[in-house]
Amino acid sequence: MTIRTRFAPSPTGPLHLGHAFSALVASDLARQAQGQFLLRIEDIDTTRSRPVWEAQIFDDLHWLGLDWPEPVLRQSENMAAYEAALDRLWQLGLLYPCTCKRRDILEAASAPQEGGKPIIGPDGLVYPGTCRDKPRAPGSPRPRDAALRLDMRRAVRAQGYDFSETGAGPEGQSGRISVHSDTLIHTIGDVVVSRRDMGTSYHLSVVIDDAAQQITHVTRGADLFDATRIHVVLQALLDLPTPVYHHHRLIRDMDGKRLAKRDDARALSTYRARGLGPDDIRHMLGIVLP
Ligand code: GLU
Repeated sequence: MTIRTRFAPSPTGPLHLGHAFSALVASDLARQAQGQFLLRIEDIDTTRSRPVWEAQIFDDLHWLGLDWPEPVLRQSENMAAYEAALDRLWQLGLLYPCTCKRRDILEAASAPQEGGKPIIGPDGLVYPGTCRDKPRAPGSPRPRDAALRLDMRRAVRAQGYDFSETGAGPEGQSGRISVHSDTLIHTIGDVVVSRRDMGTSYHLSVVIDDAAQQITHVTRGADLFDATRIHVVLQALLDLPTPVYHHHRLIRDMDGKRLAKRDDARALSTYRARGLGPDDIRHMLGIVLP
């Protein structure tokens, strides 16, 4: 099997040390295994993505010593594939339209009958299900003017899911990780798979593209561990293979906080401007050249 890895940044700001870590881990893994490293531009959020950030991603990654086959896949050019997947999930009866605003969700999730204590999932508050059972005409077409949520109860129906983790997960997990239907229902819930403003979502697009690009190993930060559980479910529903996952440690600032895109002090371009080179970045991150 040829190992294929990828780095999939969103062009919504400068790359920082945390991105460099993800990209280098993915590229080194492919290089060590004589595999292939791909770059994918995750620009479905057209309101926040900018060509200037995309150009800087290319520059920064080349500067780090990475290369990849061209042309790169841009998610904004791949909407037809996401639409087809949504059609399929809709036909399976696994999606429902949701018109709730953030405030409605907060109010409903904090209501006493819900236990009063909202649960935070990978996308924020676990959805309390307000729109789940609204009547719909049988055979009605997939709505385009509302967010679509995955009905997690129907989607999992007491099935087990599992995936291989070669990293350390957020709680030190590795090996084969099982995702239980109860966890999915109660701590992840009915996630949005198509946002009203995007016509897709990070979760759906990433799953479709990892499969289309035959990615065998996904390396990503430990903050995405819970999102990976969603991805494993979507892969099962859409008959797509589940890659091997490696959730790596997060790069933090001196105060132990996660780096944010707006943290310009740790932007790769800032280090470049200060005359540092790619070996210095590797040294700072504690990763040696394979
Ligand atoms: N576009 C996502 C990000 O930048 C990709 C994460 C992933 O799936 O590895 O966080």
